[in-house]
Amino acid sequence: MEKHISGTTGLFTLLGSPVGHSGSPAMYNFSFKQQGLDYAYLAFDIKKDQMSEAIDALRLFKVRGSNVTMPCKSIAATLVDELSPAAEIVGAINVIVNDNGKLIGHITDGVGFVRNLKENGIDIVDKKLVVIGAGGAATALEVQCALDGARAITIFNRDDNFYANAENTQKKIKHAKPNVDINVYHLEDQNKLKTEINSADILVNATTVGMKPLDNQTLVDSSYLRADLVVADTVYNPLKTKLIEDAEALGCTVAPGKGMLLWQGDAAYKLFTGKNMPTAEYQAYEAQQNID
Ligand code: NAD
Repeated sequence: MEKHISGTTGLFTLLGSPVGHSGSPAMYNFSFKQQGLDYAYLAFDIKKDQMSEAIDALRLFKVRGSNVTMPCKSIAATLVDELSPAAEIVGAINVIVNDNGKLIGHITDGVGFVRNLKENGIDIVDKKLVVIGAGGAATALEVQCALDGARAITIFNRDDNFYANAENTQKKIKHAKPNVDINVYHLEDQNKLKTEINSADILVNATTVGMKPLDNQTLVDSSYLRADLVVADTVYNPLKTKLIEDAEALGCTVAPGKGMLLWQGDAAYKLFTGKNMPTAEYQAYEAQQNID
């Protein structure tokens, strides 16, 4: 894609490691060009222990804004000047906006998740969710769903290092949104999982199970699903996980992870530029270019 860089071109960056596979530079540069914005977006491979210097560089080079990806989302939250309310609760950021020298951290993963449900016809207000997972994606969406009016959230995680994270998220949500009924259980308790899914409106896989190389695996026995359950996944590679395929076969409304990825990017774009991202045009361009 032809791109004119001038002496006044504003820079946006992606910081994290690895970043070489990221679709963000293509998505943002396409959108800047579509909207005639004099901006450029570049990815930088930055390890966790380099984040402090990288944030200093954002200030020095007056970078307009940055995305932050794994494994730097939590450390970045400790290095910026201010956090959005959701980022404050989550304790991690994926977006930094440079507001005249003040670096403000946001988290848009949860916003993207809720928007993806909405685009698939599902409103989060008053709903009960069962979320499997307690890592970065899970925490962001659990907090956002609570902030956006979910009635109840039941978190399941296997008995690993992330389990304590789920309990911590439960505490933080209880404090921020006391009316949300939030519970945490071990994934190993399959009877509990089955009962909780039975009384839920929305089931979410927010683990790495289903993602390559764990594709063709699911944490939910298909006998626990029913046609009026909404089933969402955070995994976007492959585009349809085994869980999403099982749910589709039963006639469930589904919300695969690719939509969450698109809408978290759209939310970041709005924070960066004040404009809506030309998502329909980008999706058409992406299909044509066969980018995944
Ligand atoms: P993470 O490493 O922070 O968390 C991993 C989670 O998976 C933990 O809860 C862990 O307990 C669980 N887990 C791992 N292996 C498991 C197994 N064998 N059985 C049961 N549980 C297991 O990861 P993350 O950053 O939260 O990412 C989770 C998924 O969400 C990834 O596929 C990632 O690509 C995706 N993601 C998508 C978006 C999006 O916009 N769609 C955004 C962020 C992450």
